Amino acid sequence: MNKEKMVQKLKEKISEKRYEHSIGVSYTAACMAMVYGADIEAARTAGLLHDCAKGLSSKEKLEKARKYGLPVNKYEESHPEMLHAKLGAYFARYKFDITDEDILNAITYHTTGRPNMSLLEKIVFVADYIEPNRRPVKDMDEIRQEAFTDLDKCIVHILKNTIEYLETSMDDMDYMTKMTYDYYLNK
Ligand code: FE
Ligand code: FE
Repeated sequence: MNKEKMVQKLKEKISEKRYEHSIGVSYTAACMAMVYGADIEAARTAGLLHDCAKGLSSKEKLEKARKYGLPVNKYEESHPEMLHAKLGAYFARYKFDITDEDILNAITYHTTGRPNMSLLEKIVFVADYIEPNRRPVKDMDEIRQEAFTDLDKCIVHILKNTIEYLETSMDDMDYMTKMTYDYYLNK
């Protein structure tokens, strides 16, 4: 599928604001790919499509994940919003004709990360957090610099702040977020 058609299709699925965010992630990921020597086109595409399932309601997310036979864990059952990552990869494959497994994995793991991520997975995970439309959260200036200077350090920083935030808001978290943090902290 060419980029024009992809963009047109994506715009039908997500809000204007979410689309702006997706463009932000797309270009941020492309810039990071330039710095780290990843595939720039793959980074653009993964960034563009990473939230393509986000427009569905929570109910639809759960229903569709079950219908498509995607694994739904306990955390996702109580936080169906999280399923937009796995569903996004499913849509990318079957509605946007993406066959590159690295792009599909980058979409699947963009919210939690995972231990031993590929370069592209790391880039999309970080780009989603730092893209310019994002509201500045704690340490954002520092995290944005680390994104272009020390990728693993940046990932630990993002996860540390995310986990801290979830702990103070008394919310639980996906076990994968903690697993990713432990992995990159001890690496
Ligand atoms: Fe997302
Ligand atoms: Fe996003």
